[in-house]
Amino acid sequence: MRKRAAIIGAGVSGLTCGVVLAEHEWNVTILADETGEQTTSGAAAAVWFPYDAEPVDKVIPWSLITYERLRDLARDSQSGVSMVELRQFTRAGEIAIPDWAKNLGAYSISVVPSENASPARTEGSLTIPAFPTTFTSGYALTVPLIDATIYLDYLAKRLRTAGGRIQSAHISKVDEIPRDFDVIINCSGIGARDLVHDSDLEAHRGQVAIVPKIDLAQAIICNDAPLMYAIPRAHDCVFGGTNSICENREPSSGDTAAIVSECSRVLGIDPPPVISVKVGLRPFRNSGVRLDLEKLGDGRSVIHNYGHGGAGFTLSWACAEEVRAIA
Ligand SMILES: Cc1cc2nc3c(=O)[nH]c(=O)nc-3n(C[C@H](O)[C@H](O)[C@H](O)COP(=O)(O)OP(=O)(O)OC[C@H]3O[C@@H](n4cnc5c(N)ncnc54)[C@H](O)[C@@H]3O)c2cc1C
Repeated sequence: MRKRAAIIGAGVSGLTCGVVLAEHEWNVTILADETGEQTTSGAAAAVWFPYDAEPVDKVIPWSLITYERLRDLARDSQSGVSMVELRQFTRAGEIAIPDWAKNLGAYSISVVPSENASPARTEGSLTIPAFPTTFTSGYALTVPLIDATIYLDYLAKRLRTAGGRIQSAHISKVDEIPRDFDVIINCSGIGARDLVHDSDLEAHRGQVAIVPKIDLAQAIICNDAPLMYAIPRAHDCVFGGTNSICENREPSSGDTAAIVSECSRVLGIDPPPVISVKVGLRPFRNSGVRLDLEKLGDGRSVIHNYGHGGAGFTLSWACAEEVRAIA
């Protein structure tokens, strides 16, 4: 008989765990009070990039495993995953290309005055038309781009095809989950702060503005303040962003104005109309992603998988596979 797993949470972490377990003979039930677009995962941009998550010595290997899985998924046109050139910039000095990025083929971009720029690739670097008086250096690499509006539904469908189900439920205490489940998996994101009283979790609020599709061949990111990114998707473009320690999930009109203004300035375009605004709380954990096993007083096992900060998509497959190994 198939073993039964209850997963708390239907964001990218819970859904990916659900798929991995259900496709390996587990009988999976996801319990969640929010699904799809309502979750933090539904607000994400989302590109593969190890950002705002700890600890680095685990985050980089997990990210690289997930890179492989997402690159494979990009071959499936239904998945919402594609490969995109990401250009990572800084506003001050020379940006250092991390070793992991070099291993993925990253190359430096020379930012030159626009009158001298030509879009031709030169040896080891690419000369691009300079973005107006904004960036001093950058690097480019090809990464998976995940359209969350498609991908979360894709994962949910894959889960159901493998026999899993998603039920609407709010869980106040982990041990209230019925005893006929063999294992409980906690993928509750920032919700883990209340669910398992984890005061180490910090809400890193992120807001994005969705604007109409614009002619942008690359994802443009600058993590220096003010955080700025423009992510082209199939049907629209995501402008970001913000990252502040804050619990408020209501959109801020001031943030929207600042995001659209900075992105338009960097891209050298007129400010586009805003289709919608999304806010999510990145589940950042000061002591690092929690991926471990806990025994409840009644002998059952809980596997915690939360605290992925600004990199939940980037870490999703590696963490889900580790959850399966523990289970
Ligand atoms: C603006 C923004 C941009 C981002 N960009 C990127 C990016 O480019 N790349 C990237 O990798 N990451 C990005 N992130 C981070 C990423 O979105 C998060 O790391 C990820 O969504 C966390 O996923 P999760 O499944 O752990 O949590 P969530 O998506 O928050 O899901 C938690 C789930 O648990 C449920 N839940 C919680 N508590 C309970 C409870 N008590 N009972 C029942 N259900 C409960 C919730 O309803 C929900 O279903 C971004 C985040 C934001 C906000």
